[in-house]
Amino acid sequence: MAPEFGVWEAPGHSVRIEYSEAVMQQIRMEAVEGFHRVPHGGVETGGILFGTHQGDLVRILAYRPIACEYAMGPSFTLSEKDRAALAEALRSSSEDAELAALEPAGWYHSHTRSEIFLSELDLEFFQRYFPQAWQVALVVRPASFTPDQSTEVEVRFEGVGDETRVSIEHRAWDTIPQKHAARHGFPEHVTLQRAADWWRASLTALKTKLS
Ligand SMILES: [Zn+2]
Repeated sequence: MAPEFGVWEAPGHSVRIEYSEAVMQQIRMEAVEGFHRVPHGGVETGGILFGTHQGDLVRILAYRPIACEYAMGPSFTLSEKDRAALAEALRSSSEDAELAALEPAGWYHSHTRSEIFLSELDLEFFQRYFPQAWQVALVVRPASFTPDQSTEVEVRFEGVGDETRVSIEHRAWDTIPQKHAARHGFPEHVTLQRAADWWRASLTALKTKLS
C-alpha cells in the first residue's frame, strides 16, 4: 500500500476501505469552505467518490463534487435538477480520462448542522444512486472547539538591523484531545510540525504581499 493512503476498517467486518489522503484532504477543505460560506452553520457539500473494488477491498481514488442549488435550504438535499445532473455525471464518468478506469464507489456529503449519521433522506438517496453492497457513504463534519479547547499564539517582533524578525510560538496543544478532528489522527510531533509548516507558509505569503 502506498504511504499516501489511509485505511478505514471496522472491528467485526471484513470490508477494508483504502482512501487517497489527497482526495480526503480536498473533501475536508470543501466541507470547511462550505461551513464558512454562510453564517450560522454554512452549507453542506457533497459529491461522488470514484475508485475500484475487489472482494472486500474498496479503494477511493478520485472524487467529483455534485453541484447543489440549495433549493431546499443549506442542507445537501438535491433538487430534481441536481439529481438529473448527478445521474448524468454518473453516466458520463467513463468519458473523463481520470475516471475512465474507475467506477462510482459511493458518495460523500458534509453535515455542518448535525452529527455524523445517515438520515432517512440520505439512505433513500444512497440506495437509489449507489445500490451496490460494497459502495460507500461518507459523512464528514467540520469540527468545532469547546471553550476550554483553545491554543495560544504569541507573536514577537524584534528589530534586527533594519529588518524585523517575527517569531511565533503556538502552544497549549494539550487542551486539544488526541482524538479531536483538528489533529487528523496524527501523532503529537506531526501535528506540531504541520502547525509550524502552516505558520511558516502564512508568514512567507505575508512577506511576499508586503514586499
Ligand atoms: Zn445527510
